[in-house]
Amino acid sequence: MPALSRRDFLALSTAAAAVGLAAPARGAMGPNDKYDLVIRGGEVLDPSQSLRARRDVGIRWGTIEAVQEAIPAERALKSIDASGKLVMPGLIDLHCHVYPYGSAIGIPADELVQFQGTTTVVSAGDAGVNNLAALRRFIVAQTRARMYAFVHIANNGLSAFPVAELHNIDTAQTEACAMALAENSDFLLGVKVRMSENVIFKHGLEPLKRGIQACEMCGWPAKMMVHIGGVESKELMSQILDLMRPGDVLTHAYSGAPNMSSVFTNIVQDGKLLPAALAAKQRGVMFDVGHGGGSFDFTVAEVAIPGGCAPDTISSDIHVFSGNSPGIPFLPNVMSKFMTLGFTLEQVVAMATTAPAKIISRAPKIGTLQVGAPADVAIMELVEGPVSFVDTRNNRREGKAHLKPIQTVINGVPFGRPYQAPFSVR
Ligand SMILES: [Zn+2]
Repeated sequence: MPALSRRDFLALSTAAAAVGLAAPARGAMGPNDKYDLVIRGGEVLDPSQSLRARRDVGIRWGTIEAVQEAIPAERALKSIDASGKLVMPGLIDLHCHVYPYGSAIGIPADELVQFQGTTTVVSAGDAGVNNLAALRRFIVAQTRARMYAFVHIANNGLSAFPVAELHNIDTAQTEACAMALAENSDFLLGVKVRMSENVIFKHGLEPLKRGIQACEMCGWPAKMMVHIGGVESKELMSQILDLMRPGDVLTHAYSGAPNMSSVFTNIVQDGKLLPAALAAKQRGVMFDVGHGGGSFDFTVAEVAIPGGCAPDTISSDIHVFSGNSPGIPFLPNVMSKFMTLGFTLEQVVAMATTAPAKIISRAPKIGTLQVGAPADVAIMELVEGPVSFVDTRNNRREGKAHLKPIQTVINGVPFGRPYQAPFSVR
């Protein structure tokens, strides 16, 4: 057989990439074959199929095999009783910090599962090009939750936290970042940049420009995730929004944090929504919550949302500091805050399943309970009754219900329970 030319090789890898995105092949299931696991009697809530009804969910070989009104008991090797509970696709957290041991603020993704119901997490700039390979080899490789990442435009990512990673603009090396994107298109979604004044000082738009340039050099359509909150000036906030491209992600969209001169330079200024924010939203910039320990202000959201800037995705920005802050930014709690702001349960679940899945667009059928999807499931309780929420600026709002995680299943295997035998967890 003749040696492959470079062009043949590229054609082959493109074909392989296309196959990689198709739904995985499944073994045929006979009428008497048993499911490894049946989640029984719950109220299935799956925005991807506009489904909210009592259903049993049958799982075999790590895959959703059936979502139907009743699965006979004799067809289940194991069951979980979900009666009185919500059964939803495993949650997807588009902005969190899950690079423990390597980034100074990371929490192991698997330790978040019981508190968040997250089966897929995105590391938001924890790693830069210098420590990205370690994230993949030492963390992702031994984590059960699915992980993706935005690589930081700063070479060292957030490893020097709390020292700002972009105080010295020389740490933002466009070509190195583009190389990381090119080498990791299966894992990376794009580039993270933090644009707050206390991170970039007087570098203005330069860090964002370098990030966009890296995205455009790398050979595939990489996205920016742009962190705002307390940027240097009111003008700079509008300029940042104007530079963002359709599909780029604005995170901490409802931040109310002031800049270093105590000036409020966010998307709502003096009680009014910035025209540049509405224009960005209308051309397809994705608005992400990224609550965190200092980045969510009810008074900003309450102007921006009716003004046309509702969130596309709800994310936690959970890390070792924010996790201990009064706003309790664990993902189900942040979703509950948006129910208090007037969104329906279906809407907040979509914002933490189908919407981030679309942005990730790397694995077939995540964020859904459709037959053939990886069996990633979050069982939650909707706890009805008065509940008090606080944002990151001490504003309090009273709610009527909150979501409480009960049990999470990743790839068909429940957390905190004995694995089935024989077991295989990827
Ligand atoms: Zn963050």
